[in-house]
Amino acid sequence: MGFYNYNLTIDKLLDYGASVYPDREIVYRDRRRYSFSLFSENVKSFAQSLIKIGVKPGDKVAVVDWDTDVYMTAYYSVPMIGAVLHTVNVRYPPELILKTVLHAEDSWVIIRDEFVPLLEKGKNLLSRFKGVITYNDDKEKIKTSFPTYDFWELQESGERLSQQEIKEDMQATVFYTSGTTGDPKGVWFTHRDLVLHSMSVALTTSKPPLRSSQEDNFMILVPMFHVHQWGFPYVTMLVGSNYVLPGRYDPAMEIELMKREHVTFSAMVPTILYMILSHPNAQKNQDLFKGWKVMIGGAALPSGLAHLARKMGINIAVGYGMSETAPVLTVGYYNSLVERLNEEERFLEQIKTGVPIPLAQIRVVDERGQDVPRDEKTVGEIVARAPWLTRSYYKDEERTNKLWKDSWLHTGDLAVVDKYGYIRIVDRDKDAIKSGGEFIPSLILEDIISTHPKVGEVAIVGVKDEKWGERPVAFIVPKGEVKEEEIVEFLMEKVEEGKLQKWWIPDKVVFLKEFPKTSTNKIDKKTLRTQV
Ligand code: ADP
Repeated sequence: MGFYNYNLTIDKLLDYGASVYPDREIVYRDRRRYSFSLFSENVKSFAQSLIKIGVKPGDKVAVVDWDTDVYMTAYYSVPMIGAVLHTVNVRYPPELILKTVLHAEDSWVIIRDEFVPLLEKGKNLLSRFKGVITYNDDKEKIKTSFPTYDFWELQESGERLSQQEIKEDMQATVFYTSGTTGDPKGVWFTHRDLVLHSMSVALTTSKPPLRSSQEDNFMILVPMFHVHQWGFPYVTMLVGSNYVLPGRYDPAMEIELMKREHVTFSAMVPTILYMILSHPNAQKNQDLFKGWKVMIGGAALPSGLAHLARKMGINIAVGYGMSETAPVLTVGYYNSLVERLNEEERFLEQIKTGVPIPLAQIRVVDERGQDVPRDEKTVGEIVARAPWLTRSYYKDEERTNKLWKDSWLHTGDLAVVDKYGYIRIVDRDKDAIKSGGEFIPSLILEDIISTHPKVGEVAIVGVKDEKWGERPVAFIVPKGEVKEEEIVEFLMEKVEEGKLQKWWIPDKVVFLKEFPKTSTNKIDKKTLRTQV
């Protein structure tokens, strides 16, 4: 046998990082740090220990943890032996956590000490597991009423990984959508999906304006249970950047880590950026943010927040995707048309929804499946193809048939396209407001309101109305004293400037101290609708 049939598997990413960037580091808070080469050894000895205790190819291994070095180890070692990594959403209510673990048919679990009581609750669940691996940060043994393995002992076993026959089409991961608009759905990905996704994200984020490189220190503020932390635990090995893991999120700790580890590149949903920038410690550390590269995704970036970030010297760009798409589909990097524009014009493009990343194909289509014109006005649905999209919802044929139609993945996101080819999401079809038979694009309305100097965060939801069917209501977290009339007056001025239609102006403005958030820190519109 001469020719080596090269499979695109996750272990190849680790081997690359460890060989070319051996002394780059993975840092977990102020607790532990590892060079890539030590990390790779640890991953392999833990993987071999998993084999020894009986983890078989195809077994589902649940991880229940915050963003830690243990999680990072599992990201590689579980798929590397042909098992399937289930990144459990720890911010679901406990019943839902148990439901997803049962639905995924997990047979092993790696669990941080503080979550162990969950297992005690789900006793009938325990009997389904072949083994439970526990750990705590102090490397102490954890007392439980059932037998467990200790993560540190397994990792420090010093075992050498035996040769594995892993194929690129084997399933590598499974997890559940955050359920912003309905019941969570399970999605799953293969090794090949994840390798190609990582290559494409690494390439895109290295382009202007983000320009990530091996000189960057990454700290990704997307939970590790949320769509592969947008791919960055794998991307970091390709880029050769240090990787800082913040554990459980806390803005003061994040600012401290930024300072201590000289963080230069991050990704997060808009609400997390807002929380960091409005934290008192951010005011005291203004210099920290100059030149910080931030990719925003998961929800639209409101102009108000984008301009604040820019004023603070942050280099910001938007990315878009969903659980079903591994997740990244588009990023607001510069195509050759936008590259030629002046800085102000380029900025307006990079904070829209972006252009496809390499190998992704994106169209915005009308009800007949025709591409909408690039007029920034005609709204259509985003449909996608890429080598890394989920083939089906896990054990859910009915919803799969709605997701995949005519060989295109239907996102349910409504968007317009501009003359440079940049898309901009104007709504999710499930959130869209129909008033008097006409569509009010809630994200555009939110975007305009976000530029009022007294508005911190804003969300628009539709409420039932006898005359019009539905009418918009604005929820606002203000930055100071502000009255409903001031908001309406401001919107009237925008009507005169031609930025919105008069009948889009919300019928009511509700001021809140804080927004309800989903498990992935997005503004929870489902709950807001019940608060009108
Ligand atoms: P959930 O569907 O539960 O919110 P996901 O994390 O899969 O969980 O969310 C994907 C959705 O988030 C997309 O379908 C889209 O509506 C929204 N989204 C993601 N990125 C952006 C973005 N840059 N702009 C606007 N909406 C976005």
